[in-house]
Amino acid sequence: MTEELSAIDAYVTTCDAVVVDVRDAGVVLDRTVFYARGGGQPGDTGTLRWRDGEVRVTDTVKDAGEIVHAVDGPRPAVGTAVTCEIDWDRRHTLMRTHTALHALSGIVFRNYGAKVTGGNMEPGAARMDFELETIGAEFGKEVEDKLNAELAKDHPVHVGFLPRAEAFADPDLIRTKVNLIPESVDPIRVIDIEGLDKQADGGTHVRSTAEVGRVRVAKTENKGKGFKRMRIELADPSAG
Ligand SMILES: [Zn+2]
Repeated sequence: MTEELSAIDAYVTTCDAVVVDVRDAGVVLDRTVFYARGGGQPGDTGTLRWRDGEVRVTDTVKDAGEIVHAVDGPRPAVGTAVTCEIDWDRRHTLMRTHTALHALSGIVFRNYGAKVTGGNMEPGAARMDFELETIGAEFGKEVEDKLNAELAKDHPVHVGFLPRAEAFADPDLIRTKVNLIPESVDPIRVIDIEGLDKQADGGTHVRSTAEVGRVRVAKTENKGKGFKRMRIELADPSAG
């Protein structure tokens, strides 16, 4: 299994590693700073460099439970020592986007009692689906104001690992469907935006909410009974 450095520290941009497998989908390393696509967050892009070569990583995915770096050129052979480096600007924008999405989820639950049913993101933009019967004309604007007010309070964002039994006893985690996590996963990784939102999550996040900057609610859609969709955007995707 690849040591997944981004799970502990999302701010590490580069590391040394050794190629342990080369397969159709790409290159597997003994350790990596790359985040593999999952939980609505896209996989990282970046570069692998070794003594006499380098190649672009165009995506990072999970393949049969392993982190695989998809590359668009020559693959380093098994045993090669490489340096891996992510495209930090893109990743940092994704971290800001992902934290914004969790803050939004905390607000729609706290203020409107709505449960989140899905979500997805690209750098600087995200959508969230939630269960709410009706929304008024001002709903988007209202949420936008509440979201920006909370982000500006600079809530710390904590990454933790909880024993499975403990996670299953936490009302916040139950609400966000911790029970859907495969039984083999223990401990469970938890992202806690202090005082705002807590959920089991594998993604990468900023250290505190002010780093997200301002967020715009771009669109609110009524997709059916009890099914609403909201699209948000970072006001300045390139900042930070
Ligand atoms: Zn998440």
